[in-house]
Amino acid sequence: MTTTHEGHEAETFVYLCTGCPLGCSLEVDATEEGILEIRGATCKIGERHAEQEHTDPRRPVSTTVRLDDPVHPRLPVRAAAPVPKGLVAPFVAHLRDVVVQPPVDRGEVLATDVLGTGIDVIATRSMAAAAREDTDARLATADR
Ligand code: SF4
Repeated sequence: MTTTHEGHEAETFVYLCTGCPLGCSLEVDATEEGILEIRGATCKIGERHAEQEHTDPRRPVSTTVRLDDPVHPRLPVRAAAPVPKGLVAPFVAHLRDVVVQPPVDRGEVLATDVLGTGIDVIATRSMAAAAREDTDARLATADR
C-alpha cells in the first residue's frame, strides 16, 4: 500500500508490536530516505518497536550447545543481546560447533563476538563438573 505525505509517495509497512500482550498493529509510512509517520502505537514502547522493526529488526536467540557430559549432553544458552533478524539462522548454525567443558556457571560467556556481531553467547544454567564424575561412578557401579 502506498500513501502520499506532502507530495512524497511513501510505502506503508505493517508490524505487530510485541511490547505487551495487547499486540497493537503498527503502521509505518516510509520512503527509502526514512520513516515519515508511525500509526497504531498507543505508547512510546510501540513507537520505538515500530522504528526498530523497520530500520534494524532483531530477535532474541535461545538455543542449546553441546556439553561434554554424558548425562546432560546439551547446555541451554542465549545470545546476550537481540541478534539482527537476517543473522539468526547463521548465528545458531555457528553454535553447532561449540562444545563446552563443565563446570559452567550461569551467565558465563561461552562464545564472544559471534559472526562479528559484537554479541556474546552466555550459559543460562550452571553445570557442575561433579555431574560427570558422579555419572562415571554410577556407570562403573552399574557395570559390576
Ligand atoms: S504499542 Fe504499547 S500498548 Fe500497544 S502492544 Fe505495544 S507496548 Fe503494548
